Amino acid sequence: MWSSEIFLNTKTFHPDEDRIQWGDELTIDGHSYQISQFKYLLMNKPAGYETSHKPSRHKSVFELLPAHYINRGVQAAGRLDVDTTGLLLFSDDGQFIHKVISGKQGIKKEVEKIYVMTLDMPIQDEQIDRLLAGVELQEEFDTEWVSASKAERLADGRLRMGITTGKYHQVKRMLAAVGNHVTGLHRESVGPYQLPADLAPGEWIEFEPNA
Ligand code: URA
Repeated sequence: MWSSEIFLNTKTFHPDEDRIQWGDELTIDGHSYQISQFKYLLMNKPAGYETSHKPSRHKSVFELLPAHYINRGVQAAGRLDVDTTGLLLFSDDGQFIHKVISGKQGIKKEVEKIYVMTLDMPIQDEQIDRLLAGVELQEEFDTEWVSASKAERLADGRLRMGITTGKYHQVKRMLAAVGNHVTGLHRESVGPYQLPADLAPGEWIEFEPNA
């Protein structure tokens, strides 16, 4: 028995009459999906893999994907460090990758990435305040202020933190800047995309991006 409410673009979808085409927007029970000829993949990145086609010292995350995705030009949307685990997005849709890495086209709408980390030392209130207020990171030619969009203590040595920028080793450097040290880092979400709880390390699934 079909009980979902489905719209094809702006009209009610009639499965017997309507044909779905590339570029259409399907809305199922309030959730919109763009029907796309591109591929979108979501992986639970395991530790010990580099986010690179040409890894220097470890295996490549691309080894975990079937060759036909690589052959059609699937790239990672951003990078995770070799020891970082969790959500990594891939696509052959350049616009999607750009949107994930640099925010929405044109409008500077930043994409929040949420990490959970294990720390060497219990996290102090004062350290959380400093992360939220902003810390200075030394870049190649200058220094930059970056701040956490949110920071929530989960346990003494565990912190959930959001960032909307993507600098090299940003989370680890931010925690070092407030006098702590990250010993384990896991990404839970990127913008609206969450790592499914039942996706084991090394596993991936295809998904349709939010319209
Ligand atoms: N920040 C880091 O320090 N490492 C990552 O892998 C991602 C964000």
